[in-house]
Amino acid sequence: MFKRFRNWLDSRRVKDMGFTSAQWESAIADWPVMHRYQGVERDALRDMTFRFLVRKSLTSGGEFQFTDAMRLKIATMACVPILHLGLDWYDHWYTIIIYEGDFIPNRPYRTDDGVVHSESPGLSGEAWVRGPVVLSWQSILETGAHVRHGKASNVVIHELAHKLDMLRDGANGAPPMHPDMRPGEWHDIFSAAWERLQKDLHRHRPLPLNDYALTSPAEFFAVCSETFFEAPHAMQKHMPEVYRLLCQLYRQQPLPLTNSDRA
Ligand SMILES: [Zn+2]
Repeated sequence: MFKRFRNWLDSRRVKDMGFTSAQWESAIADWPVMHRYQGVERDALRDMTFRFLVRKSLTSGGEFQFTDAMRLKIATMACVPILHLGLDWYDHWYTIIIYEGDFIPNRPYRTDDGVVHSESPGLSGEAWVRGPVVLSWQSILETGAHVRHGKASNVVIHELAHKLDMLRDGANGAPPMHPDMRPGEWHDIFSAAWERLQKDLHRHRPLPLNDYALTSPAEFFAVCSETFFEAPHAMQKHMPEVYRLLCQLYRQQPLPLTNSDRA
């Protein structure tokens, strides 16, 4: 009953908000990932994006004046990972704060040498447990399959992956699993991939993803997620088992199935 009422309320508020399909199409036209979503799936993504915008609050960090097109683009990127999971997966938080560029959190931070500094370096994005998501528009502009030293980047998907990860026992690289998934398999495959890439990093071999992934299991999951959506070919080629598990988690196949996959 509550769900039906909520959907009805969402629909009314979407109507009041007044965004059109044409506005949405124009806002996401330059994001290549959108080629993957056509027909019914594209309609569902647009519908979810509008519902996302009436449920969440997008606010300005600093003096940044963001436009409706920016709101639509950020919301669409946020909805891509949960398109086949449902908007309820984002129920535990409400606010996205958008800065024009990288932002400096107002808190002390500790570097690897153990020194606590009173000012942090600039951040491109951040996700708080039960709190807001913070994003830099400049970093969102640097989205793509090869933009970060030849590696994939999508700060919106990265931070939202942290939010999904936090749904189960905090940010530790193990998001909630579907009933047909085995947490033990997830742990084994992600651990094996992590160890192999650590070795590659120490031997100065090229990695298939941004090496920031190797700072913690939570960052590994977040960077794998942005690579999965932005550069699925690289992920499937170099990390096929991780790719397979992310297909199960997100209930999406960014790459078309081949006949051998179907066998
Ligand atoms: Zn992160």
